[in-house]
Parts: sequence; structure tokens; C-alpha cells
Amino acid sequence: MNYFFSEHEQMVKDSFSDYVNKRIIPLRKQLDENDEFPAEIFREMAQNDFFRVLVPEEFGGISDSQMLASIGIEELSRGDGGIGVTYAVNAIATKGILLYGSEEQKKKYLPAVADGRILTAFALTEPGAGSDSGAIKTRAVKKGNTFILDGVKQFITSGEIADIIMVIAVTEPGQGHRGHTAFIVEKGFPGFSVGKKEDKMGLRSSVTNQLIFEECEVPESNILGELNRGFYEALGVLDRSRIGIGAQAVGIAQGALEEAIQYADTREQFGHPIGKFQAIRHILADMATQVEAARLMVYQAARMSDAGEKELTKMSAMCKLFATDTAMRVSTDAVQIFGGYGYMKEYPVEKMMRDAKVTQIYEGTNQIQRNTIAARLLKSK
Ligand SMILES: Cc1cc2nc3c(=O)[nH]c(=O)nc-3n(C[C@H](O)[C@H](O)[C@H](O)COP(=O)(O)OP(=O)(O)OC[C@H]3O[C@@H](n4cnc5c(N)ncnc54)[C@H](O)[C@@H]3O)c2cc1C
Repeated sequence: MNYFFSEHEQMVKDSFSDYVNKRIIPLRKQLDENDEFPAEIFREMAQNDFFRVLVPEEFGGISDSQMLASIGIEELSRGDGGIGVTYAVNAIATKGILLYGSEEQKKKYLPAVADGRILTAFALTEPGAGSDSGAIKTRAVKKGNTFILDGVKQFITSGEIADIIMVIAVTEPGQGHRGHTAFIVEKGFPGFSVGKKEDKMGLRSSVTNQLIFEECEVPESNILGELNRGFYEALGVLDRSRIGIGAQAVGIAQGALEEAIQYADTREQFGHPIGKFQAIRHILADMATQVEAARLMVYQAARMSDAGEKELTKMSAMCKLFATDTAMRVSTDAVQIFGGYGYMKEYPVEKMMRDAKVTQIYEGTNQIQRNTIAARLLKSK
């Protein structure tokens, strides 16, 4: 399929794709079993300049185009959803700094992201505040030139490996959405620690942690953006990062489709490859059609973001919703095409199904995406 990529986009696609085929696909079963962050792979990705795709030239990268990031995330996720999400989440706090950071913050952090010397995380969710992210309780109180943070963040991707974290905390209690502020927290700040590591169903090559802030001292200069604008800044970042999760879902679905096609061509029953049976052919045709539709929505949302489109919320919610539901459907269909073998860990499709599930949950569940889309369709909010 010709997606009419620019020369630059095609180059990024080819270089990520080659790496995924050579290094990630052969390792993915082991990565899933190991249930730990594959530091060596991320070192190699840095050597291949993969993180420069997230940062503009003036800070040592090659571009901060949403389209290039989406292409990279999709390819990595085709190989392994866990590596895909770690890369996608690295793009979130990076985007936060790009959109809202001061010149000093950009100069301090972005070259290190581009070189792959540091990884970043994004911490909004709390034990009692998931979909209702306005209900966060982590408190930030000003004391001289610092803010003192107290609270717990839940389910934070890359929590234990991130060098810097974009953290949203309450600075004006009682002011609701107008009382939250974003901070850049460095892992060495006093009072910051990493809590338990979650034991997840899928994405097992990514790490997910609780983060604990106990009188954590954050310099005032590490406010990201404006005081009391953190909720809105988080929404601005999520409008972009949901496109990344859409790309992750497309990658997982593409991986499952490729496995299913290969299996249907080779597995024989009743004296024929199962791909000869119309029932299987139609499942494959539907899978391929859904993957293409999801991909085109992701690319359209990415192009809208790169063109500076103001109203991105509805399209990014739509592409996240459709692509992640597609990943779940397509990976489940892939297991069906593999029959009993699909249910076994020996083959990659059961892992893809486990990896796909969470894409319908994080970055706003798909119920919340539907609420968001409907709110933009109807006058009655
Ligand atoms: C593996 C993993 C990685 C994650 N990484 C991060 C991260 O890096 N940073 C971060 O900040 N968070 C992260 N999260 C958190 C994630 O974004 C939340 O889990 C998600 O937003 C849902 O919140 P919750 O789990 O509290 O579910 P709840 O909000 O408690 O929802 C429970 C159910 O109720 C439904 N529901 C809730 N409210 C409504 C409503 N108004 N209308 C309809 N249905 C509703 C939901 O759709 C869901 O089905 C991660 C989660 C996971 C599982």
C-alpha cells in the first residue's frame, strides 16, 4: 500500500522496520517471559537514532513530527507492544516539554531525550483517580523557591526507569481543573521513590509502577508551563499521545494479521491449506480492511496535529478508539485462525491479544473516548 510518505517518512519507516525484523521479533517471546525492561534494546535504539524522531533539530533531534513518531511507534509495536508503549510514553513527557516548557527546560532535557540518554514518563493517574483525572489528590505546596509534593501515582509506565517524569499535582485545592499544575520531577529529587512494580497481563517488556512522593522537593523552575494550568496542559499532551496509542494498536494488529496470513497459507486440514476455506478467507479480509482503516485514521490524526489543527480532540479520540478496538478484534481473530495452537504460548498471537487489551484501557478508556466524541457532536454536553 502506498501511503504517499515523504522521503524522510519512508526512511524512518524502513529503518525502524529493519531493526524490528532483525532484533525485536526474534526476541519478543523471551522479552514477554522475562517481564523486565530490555535495557540493551533501548541502548541499540539510541545508537540507531530512534529517539531523535521525537525531538526537533534545534535540540539535537531530527523532527518532532507526530507522523514520524506514529510511524516509529507502529513499527516497534508490530514487533512488541511493550517496547512500543515505552517508546510512545517517552514521547508524551517530551511533547509536554516541547509544548509548554521554558527555553531552559528544553535545553536541559531535550538533547538528552534525543540522544536516548534519558527516558521520560507521564504521571497523572492515582489510586482513586483514573477516568476522573480531575479528582487527583497529589498535593504541591509552595515553600520558598520549591514546591513540596505529597501523594501517590498509580500505573505509571516506565516509572522505575524514567529519568524525568511529568507529574500533575493540585496547587489550588477547591479550584477543580483550574487548580492543577504540571511539574518536571527528576528521579533524584529528595522525597521521590518508586513503589511496587505491577504484574501485568501483557506488555510485559514495559514496566509499570506506583510512584511515591513524600515531601518531595521540586524547584519552582521545574513547573512545566503555567501555574494552575496543568489539567489543560495534560489534555493538550493527551490529544497528541492518543494518536501514538492508536499507532501502537495499529502495529499490534498488523503483527497479528501478518502471523495469521502466514499460518493460513501453511496449516493444512482436510487436504488443503486452511486459507482455502472461505470462512478463514473472510476473517482475513475483514482483519486487513480494519487494520487499513485504523491506520488511515491514525495517519490523518497525525497529519492534522502536524498541520497545527486547533481542534484535535475529537479526531485523536476517534483514532484511539477505532484503532484499539481493531487491535483487540484482529488479535482475537488471529488466535481463532491458529485454532488450538493460537491458545499456546509457543505462537505469538496469544501474546498479541494480551498486549492489545490494555490499549482499550489506558490513555483514557474507550468508554471515555466515546464520551469525548459524543460531547463534541451534541449541544447537550
Ligand atoms: C498498563 C497500564 C499503563 C498505564 N500507564 C499510565 C501512565 O503512564 N500514566 C498515567 O497517568 N496513567 C497510566 N495508566 C492508567 C490508565 O490511564 C487508567 O488505568 C485509565 O485511565 C482508567 O482508569 P482506572 O484504571 O482508574 O479505571 P476507572 O476510571 O476506575 O474505570 C473503571 C471502568 O469504568 C468505566 N468508566 C469510568 N468512568 C466512566 C464514565 N464517566 N462513563 C463511562 N464509563 C466510565 C471505565 O471505562 C472502566 O471501564 C496505565 C494503566 C495501565 C493498565
